[in-house]
Amino acid sequence: MVSGNNNFGVVFMLNRRNFLQLSTLASSAALLPPVLKQQAFAQSSPLKLQALQPNITLVSGGACNVLVVKAANGELLVVDGGHKQGAKDLRSTIETSTGSKKFATLINTHWHPEQTGLNEVLGNKSTRIFAHENTREWLSTSVKRLLEDKVYPPLPELARPNDVFYNYGDFMHGTSKVEFGYLRQAHTDGDMYVYLPEANILHAGGVISNEGWPLLDWWTGGWMGGLVDGLETLLSVANTGTLIIPANGKPITRVELQAQRDMYANIFTTVRNLFQKANTVEQTVAAKPAKAWEAQYGSADAFITLAHWSLIPHLTPDA
Ligand SMILES: [Zn+2]
Repeated sequence: MVSGNNNFGVVFMLNRRNFLQLSTLASSAALLPPVLKQQAFAQSSPLKLQALQPNITLVSGGACNVLVVKAANGELLVVDGGHKQGAKDLRSTIETSTGSKKFATLINTHWHPEQTGLNEVLGNKSTRIFAHENTREWLSTSVKRLLEDKVYPPLPELARPNDVFYNYGDFMHGTSKVEFGYLRQAHTDGDMYVYLPEANILHAGGVISNEGWPLLDWWTGGWMGGLVDGLETLLSVANTGTLIIPANGKPITRVELQAQRDMYANIFTTVRNLFQKANTVEQTVAAKPAKAWEAQYGSADAFITLAHWSLIPHLTPDA
């Protein structure tokens, strides 16, 4: 992964072409705030509980969708933890609704503050905090993203993931199997999914946002091509009856997931072609690669800006 000490994710491979691309960033900074505003100020609103199945609850309305699974022995598996400001409220909501305080496993689908707020509240030796190794690394260092006037400090040691993986695997939660896998360099470079085969529920983490255009966090290793790859991996895990939980917004079906994959693949092809013709980011945005979907999802200018930038370390010929 890219060193967390870098100010932005591609500095280690900076060369003349990269520099020219990056030098256009300042002039296109005006395109950025809507995305980062969404990212930085996604605050908690009243939490909503939805029983997906007996002992499986979706908690929404906070900074992200939180999945809670209670095993027969009372042990809790929690996937993602909302923002730090809402963490105590989330913990008590989970305790009240499940009648349990046994937080056995907390999963971070990626490092973003909207997912990792529960870490400090539950961070102790008895709760396993599970994540991809890259997520642990980002949570162990300061992150400063380009053009964003904010530094994300490392989490205290006890709040960092204490159990990590690299590719995929499974574990038992009570008597039920939990499968997980890595979604390489998509939304960040530490994305993962969590699949409950018995319940047929798939938490997709940050690779799916069902509320407008997603953040492509290329400062910490996300990129447009990886987003499409990640959606294809999710398609390979899901079946026709799978309930798919995005990072934000309502759950979707596999048919909707397929539509998202097709949309992003289409946009990726267009942005890549424009990029390879040495377009500037302004030219790529002006070409409106996502025009067909803007009536549904709103202006994609900020997303296209990030998509274009995200290609710099991947497609620049001499990178
Ligand atoms: Zn995220």
